[in-house]
Amino acid sequence: MYDCPHCSTKSIGTWRKVSATPFSPAICGNCGKASFVSGWSNFATVLAAEVFLWGSIVFAIFLGSFYGLLALPVGMAVISILLAQLFPLIPANDFVLETRRKIVRRTWGFAVLAALALLIYGLSTHSAG
Ligand SMILES: [Zn+2]
Repeated sequence: MYDCPHCSTKSIGTWRKVSATPFSPAICGNCGKASFVSGWSNFATVLAAEVFLWGSIVFAIFLGSFYGLLALPVGMAVISILLAQLFPLIPANDFVLETRRKIVRRTWGFAVLAALALLIYGLSTHSAG
């Protein structure tokens, strides 16, 4: 567990820490405030996941055993512990949270518009045909 940057309580798990982004921040169980890590940590996590996914498949073929696939969870566990040590949690301020809210709102607005457009398109082709 890692310290919350707001209240210094050990409330953030390793995986939650390395996967915390401004769009999906880690929420402290003690104070309820949001925090995230540098984008480089997220990038490295995605890259490591990709490498270990293919690496474990190659390893399993090389060993001729499905046990080779265990390299994926083991590798990811090691990488996430390393990354969690490397990158500190950044407390999410109001600017970050407000930006996130705007993006979420815009995404939903777009989804609703797309659904409406599909519905109108579907109704118009239905009535014409
Ligand atoms: Zn906290």
